[in-house]
Amino acid sequence: MKKSKQDLVIAIDGHSSGGKSTYAKTIAKELGITYVDSGAMYRAVTLFAMENNLIRESIIDEKELVRQLDRISIEIVFNPEGARYETWMNGKNIEDDIRTVAVSSHVSHVSKIREVRETLVDLQREMARDKGVVMDGRDIGTVVFPDADIKIYLTAKPEIRAQRRYDELKEKGMEASYNEIHENIMDRDHQDSTRDISPLKKAEDAVELDNSSMTPEEQMVWFKDLMEKKFGELK
Ligand code: C5P
Repeated sequence: MKKSKQDLVIAIDGHSSGGKSTYAKTIAKELGITYVDSGAMYRAVTLFAMENNLIRESIIDEKELVRQLDRISIEIVFNPEGARYETWMNGKNIEDDIRTVAVSSHVSHVSKIREVRETLVDLQREMARDKGVVMDGRDIGTVVFPDADIKIYLTAKPEIRAQRRYDELKEKGMEASYNEIHENIMDRDHQDSTRDISPLKKAEDAVELDNSSMTPEEQMVWFKDLMEKKFGELK
């Protein structure tokens, strides 16, 4: 049976701060399907570890964190009031708390832990059960949904990614230093691409898009073109 737009599973992977989430949200809205930010889940587990004193002087108490994983309940909820997706953990809205530089500096270490990945991959598959979804992350096209209908590998130059992240934090009124952000992005690129389990890499059947000098509108034109080439007219 021919797919409808609402049944599609779309995986968007790529480096940190490459504009994946904005892109994924716009696509989800355009197609009328769910958006899931998998990075927010790794950030939530990191925040949990920080709040429960399981990260001290940058050392993670992995054993204890793994032991407590089943105490963490994560939801991604669309808030129609602010027209934005928000991450909740154990009944609390943590959307802003997970975007701090402190969380960003620990998250790539937490996301290397096998049991953390297994738990979150299960949850990601659960969130997409029986519905169309756009999910962004590092291993969505390679591990979480190897059979995704569309896989996009999004890249941009590190300096441009750092500048975008800096502007984003400033706009939200959050503390930010360009140099610190640039360093964090380079470090996360390295950690995410070289880890043993599910490293960031382009899936063989993913289409690469370098959006360094593209506007959001141009990226959507590119996406619609890709959809049409792949599926023709979809209802
Ligand atoms: O996407 P975002 O930058 O918020 O992700 C935060 C971190 O979570 C990444 O740097 C990476 O270490 C981890 N992550 C992951 N696998 C995913 C999504 C995020 O390891 N699918």
